[in-house]
Amino acid sequence: MRIEFREIAVRELANGYEDNDEEGVFGYGGALDIRPPYQREFIYSGSQRDAVIDTASKGFPLNVMYWSVRDDGGFEVIDGQQRTISLCQFIEGDFSVQLGSFDEKRAFHNLQKDEQSRLLDYKLMVYLCSGSDSEKLEWFKTINIAGEELTNQELRNAVFHGPWVSDAKRYFSKSNCPAYGIGSRYLSGSVIRQDYLETAIKWHSEQGSIDGYMSERQNWEGAEEIWEFFRGVIEWVEGLFPNYRKEMKGVQWGELYNQFKNESFDPKRLEQEVRTLMEDEEVTNKKGIFPYLLTGKENHLNIRSFNPKQKREAYERQNGVCPVCDERFEISQMEADHITPWHEGGKTIPNNCQMLCRDDNRRKSGR
Ligand SMILES: [Zn+2]
Repeated sequence: MRIEFREIAVRELANGYEDNDEEGVFGYGGALDIRPPYQREFIYSGSQRDAVIDTASKGFPLNVMYWSVRDDGGFEVIDGQQRTISLCQFIEGDFSVQLGSFDEKRAFHNLQKDEQSRLLDYKLMVYLCSGSDSEKLEWFKTINIAGEELTNQELRNAVFHGPWVSDAKRYFSKSNCPAYGIGSRYLSGSVIRQDYLETAIKWHSEQGSIDGYMSERQNWEGAEEIWEFFRGVIEWVEGLFPNYRKEMKGVQWGELYNQFKNESFDPKRLEQEVRTLMEDEEVTNKKGIFPYLLTGKENHLNIRSFNPKQKREAYERQNGVCPVCDERFEISQMEADHITPWHEGGKTIPNNCQMLCRDDNRRKSGR
């Protein structure tokens, strides 16, 4: 992969600037795609826009921008879209700004000649990145660390853009998209920031890599496959647990679906168990009730644990001896155990507490 640093004057950037609803936004003599399809429709406020013009006209530095180099030699703005649009629109005369010692707002054509030249000659710092898709992805993740605004999934959409991503976004990425319509009670995160798409891919790829999944489908025509899968997950959940509870939001439903879609459960019985567990004070992770009922794994429930005082009392009562192996340990080498386990009705109360050595506790709890 190559990363090249280039200084680009505002006059070069704004050369051939075109903003067309249908076809997109272009600059740099037509070679730069300023709003490639994966970019968020994120718009600067008036004051942010004015600040860009003010900064450049004073010759102060703007943050570096990132362009990706396409295979056909063209460029796409990865970071710096709003700054680029602000500069180009101002030069086009689309808005006025209050600059210098002038009280009134001025459009570009109202500026003095030397002010105009200073702005047109202003040098932007641009990093050009070319390389394979996965190299670009790594690189985008790195620039993201510098406080920039893309999420991991937005970056992946950038790197693997193509007909599949465009179609998938129709289902998963707009505030009124179908995935939000049927799934918002079950998924956490933001549709716009691509959390739904990320979750759906994670579920559908069955623990595979999201990058690999997207790379494989990059040039596929449509994304019905993942949409059908997603719909299947939601219908399955609604069938199993028809009585909605807010704790159902954010459960990894797709993973449970992959594992249990072919097993049969009795929704009436599940509902009774959910109710009992919701009321059980020993269960501290209520969200975990749903995976617990399907997998039978108690660790989802975060059963209440003994506090330091209860542990110390049990330790002193036992004189530091582990009742399983009969050996003496420091308290720091022991762990608290429910004598009668939770699933047999044992509670987290002092007389149900014993201290076991670490090995024996792990053996007992099957870890
Ligand atoms: Zn022991």
